[in-house]
Amino acid sequence: MEYDVLIEHGLLVTMAEGLPVVEDGAVLVENGGIAAYGKTNEFSGHKVKTRINAHKKIIMPGLINCHTHLPMSMFRGLADDLPLDVWLNDHVFPAEAKHVNPESVEKWSLHSIKEMLLSGTTTCCDGYFHEDRVAAAVLSSGIRAVAGQGVIDFPAPGVPDPKMNIKAAVDFVTEFKNRSSLLYPSIFCHSPYTCSRETLTSAKKAANDLGVLFQIHVAETKNEVHLIQGLGGMTIVEYLESLGILDSNTLMVHSVWIDDNDMGIIRKNHARVAHCPESNMKLASGIAPVPGLIKMGVPVGLGTDGCASNNDHDLFSEMDMAAKLHKVALLDPCVMDARTTLKMATIEGAKAIGLDKITGSIEKGKRADIILVDLDKPHAIPMYDPYSSIVYSAKSSDVTLVMVDGRILVRDGKPV
Ligand SMILES: [Zn+2]
Repeated sequence: MEYDVLIEHGLLVTMAEGLPVVEDGAVLVENGGIAAYGKTNEFSGHKVKTRINAHKKIIMPGLINCHTHLPMSMFRGLADDLPLDVWLNDHVFPAEAKHVNPESVEKWSLHSIKEMLLSGTTTCCDGYFHEDRVAAAVLSSGIRAVAGQGVIDFPAPGVPDPKMNIKAAVDFVTEFKNRSSLLYPSIFCHSPYTCSRETLTSAKKAANDLGVLFQIHVAETKNEVHLIQGLGGMTIVEYLESLGILDSNTLMVHSVWIDDNDMGIIRKNHARVAHCPESNMKLASGIAPVPGLIKMGVPVGLGTDGCASNNDHDLFSEMDMAAKLHKVALLDPCVMDARTTLKMATIEGAKAIGLDKITGSIEKGKRADIILVDLDKPHAIPMYDPYSSIVYSAKSSDVTLVMVDGRILVRDGKPV
């Protein structure tokens, strides 16, 4: 038989269980999936249509961005250096009211997807309004994505009547479920302070009934707890637990202002967390207790958040930042080591958004979401440890090839 693609002669960093690394490694791709991996010489007798030489390059799984608002790249640099409430209420919400429409959402989603693919991201988890147009951009680009229709108790782009917010989300999921194996529709409640308890419970019930991921910003700022009606002395995490929101199908974005008790609740309910260190730093929101969550076994993925609060979708710089932020926060250089950090941007991120059977590592049977990283560059030489090189030395511009579901979308560092 003749296979589709053999990527050969690279340093293969699989991110599979036990973190096997293969020198002079190769990955065999067939029908968009990973048929096998191993030493290049194990495949010398195989017939393949396309051979890709990865000599002096790292072969690794594509990165997973667990929290984006893709269309917000239209607001990159619009309002920087402001507190979150001022940034959101005085700048982002008015700009959204003026500029967000179906055409701009699709155009800027495509723009963000291009940025992500070029920087080695093969999967993202998004939430916004007019999400049908984000989905259209996903489908036309070939990236893999969870796309969540936004739910908020205010008039929103595409949903002028908040009473229709759940219906709009359900209609979106129904329309796009089973449309493509690369698109996973989802429901995204903006936050516990912009959604009532009725909205939260109805949206979560709808997500469960439809069998899709439920996403929500949680405890992003210290002030948030004062904005929620009816907490009755509960923490935000206790409140969400009391509403039945927390389970293995819920992605809690940010989770900055949570205490030890909250962390126990998150673990007990098997909820997942998306960590967005650069956004949290830029808006001075705080530092999420991520090393503690990881130690407890909570799946934590890495996200950039929207481009207006980052201001890019670059997961290489996000990894570098995440690793260093927690070291200085805890005055402990041993936390968030390079392996842990890279897991967060790959296999743990896949777990966080429920796609770990499909992507996040190079393993037989998973889809072929693979990138090549050229570290034969002054800023990355010498290499003692590939994880260290990827997290601390590599730059997104070192990505030379990006494959999603077996399709090459970036070659020689350029979009195909
Ligand atoms: Zn966000």
